[in-house]
Formats: sequence, structure tokens, C-alpha cells
Amino acid sequence: MFDLSKIVRPNIRVLQPYSSARDEFKGTAAVYLDANENPFGTLNRYPDPLQKQLKASLSEIKAVDTQNIFVDNGSDEAIDLCFRIFCEPGKDRALTFTPTYGMYKVSADINNVVLDEVPLDDNFQIDIEKTLPLLEDERLKLIFICSPNNPTGNNLNNIETILQNFNGIVVVDEAYIDFSENESLSQKIAQYPNLVVLQTLSKAWGLAAARIGLALADANIISLFNKVKPPYNVSRLNYEAAIAALGQPKVFEQQKQLLLQQRTVLQQELINLPFVTNVYPSNANFLLVAVTDASGIYNRLVEKGIILRNRNSVIANCIRITIGTPEENELLLTTLKNLNL
Ligand SMILES: *Cc1c(COP(=O)(O)O)cnc(C)c1O
Repeated sequence: MFDLSKIVRPNIRVLQPYSSARDEFKGTAAVYLDANENPFGTLNRYPDPLQKQLKASLSEIKAVDTQNIFVDNGSDEAIDLCFRIFCEPGKDRALTFTPTYGMYKVSADINNVVLDEVPLDDNFQIDIEKTLPLLEDERLKLIFICSPNNPTGNNLNNIETILQNFNGIVVVDEAYIDFSENESLSQKIAQYPNLVVLQTLSKAWGLAAARIGLALADANIISLFNKVKPPYNVSRLNYEAAIAALGQPKVFEQQKQLLLQQRTVLQQELINLPFVTNVYPSNANFLLVAVTDASGIYNRLVEKGIILRNRNSVIANCIRITIGTPEENELLLTTLKNLNL
């Protein structure tokens, strides 16, 4: 049985969070002399600690109750918060499936937590038979599953089997969910009290510079995130940029459709190049491409001013290509054709 109180670090369970001026008085007043702000200016006041207006907007778009939403400065920060809430440094463990997003390992190292890296199978899928016995380890508190997975681009299977068979927290990183044909697992948080879905406005929503991420989970888990966050954790500039972008769903939808169409174009054109050996199917805004010589091709493109992500160190002779504008993609294809490899 999953029991949240057993999974939370003891110091976090008993933590008395900081109570800010804005926490203690929640109404509207004519005069605010409670937070040592400068009374002059336009950015002089602290922002809403709980980002109510942004959460109302996210709630509609994501079809998730506001009590199930936590907002922070991007998914990378949320990954770190998960370690801080659930893993005792030097004692508890975490697990992920590789190859995957590199920050789970870096964040584990920063927090002095051992991360078990279980290889995905030949189809970049979770080997569930091999995984189930690993879930029995009492020290294992956190599992990170990136789906669609970066850098392989595919949706991962068996996530619900893991949720059902694990008494710790399963963090599903859905940074690329808007490009996926699968529905978000956020629609199942009522069913799984041990599920944390991470999403971000950095990718499909075009707000990488604004640093807005969200965690979607059971209200008890959301309370823990709120307990450990700095009091005014999201800047008002970023908050307003997010609200403005979310208010333009048609722009979002048009860009997304264009990127999906461009993904197909790139897929079809790349596979015809003589030095391309495979273009993996993608549910994200990038393609994983196997070539004859990844580092060679990467370096030749750098000379031409085009930067791809060389993933040779992670998957032999593979490069990851982000879907750009039609013009950028066209330039990439022409340049690749003219390499005469
Ligand atoms: C890009 C990326 C992130 C980072 O998201 P931010 O919200 O910008 O911090 C997290 N997870 C994955 C899998 C990513 O590819």
C-alpha cells in the first residue's frame, strides 16, 4: 500500500513552512505596510505566492483542478524538489530508464542520492519483467520516467503497471506531451496518489526563457511542494508572460500543427540521405537520427553554423535534431545534401 507519510523525508514531514506577509493577510487593502517593499515603482510588490490567476488558466487548459497544480521555475527545479522532499541524502535511492534526460542523474548527484539507471530495451521501451523486482527495494523512493522520452522521442509503455506496483513516487516527465499522440497521465492523478506529472511551458508553449514549470499531482503531494518552495517563487514578469501565452490557444495550436507537419517532412527527407541509417519515430518536437558518423556530421554542420545535439556518447552514432521553422529545416536539409558524404 502506498502511504505518503512513509515516503516523505521525516524533516519535511514535520517542517513548519515560512509564513509570508502575503500568506497572513489574503484580502485586498488600501495600504500595504507589511512586507518591507518599496512603495514606489511598478515591480515593487511581491507577486502572488500561490499564482492563483495562472493556476486558474492552467486548470482549464490542462483539465486539472487548481488544488492539483504546483507552479515553479521549470521542470529542472521540480526534479530537484522531488529529491529534496522524498530522498534522504546518502540513504534513499532513485531509479530511471536510460537513455533519458540527463538532469535526473545530475540532480541525484547534487542531492547525494544513488540513481539506478535501468537500460531501455532494443525498442527503447521499459522491460517490465526486469523492472518489477527492483520496485521491492525499501530504499527506493523515486522513479523518473520521461515520456515522450528525451532523446529517443517515443512514448514509454508500462507506466501504469509501475504506478500500481510501486509504493514510492513515480515522476512522469511530460515535457513533450503536447507533441504526443498519447493523452497526459495528469488525467489519472485521482487514481494514483503516488503519481507526479511534470510539465513545462518551455517547449510547445514557446516560453523557455520565462522558466515556468508545473507539477500535477494529488493535493497531498502538492502541499509538500508548497511547503518547501521559496515564498514568492515565480517572478511576476514570468507569471504575466505565462498568462499572456496561455490566453492565445490558437497561436499555440497553429505552431504545434506546423511543427508536427515539419516533423513529418524532415523524417521523410532525412531517411533518403545516404549517410542516414535510421530516423526513429517521434512523439516530440525532435527526431533521433542514426547516421554513419555522428561526430563527423555534427562537426561539419558546426562549420556551417548549424548546431545539432550530438548524442553519440549516449546512443552510438545518433544525433538529435530539434524541429525548427520551415526555413531552418530546409536549410538543414540542403546543407546536409551538400556535405557529399
Ligand atoms: C527540456 C526538458 C526539461 C526542462 O524543462 P524546463 O521546464 O525548461 O526546466 C525537463 N525535462 C525534459 C525531458 C526536457 O527535455
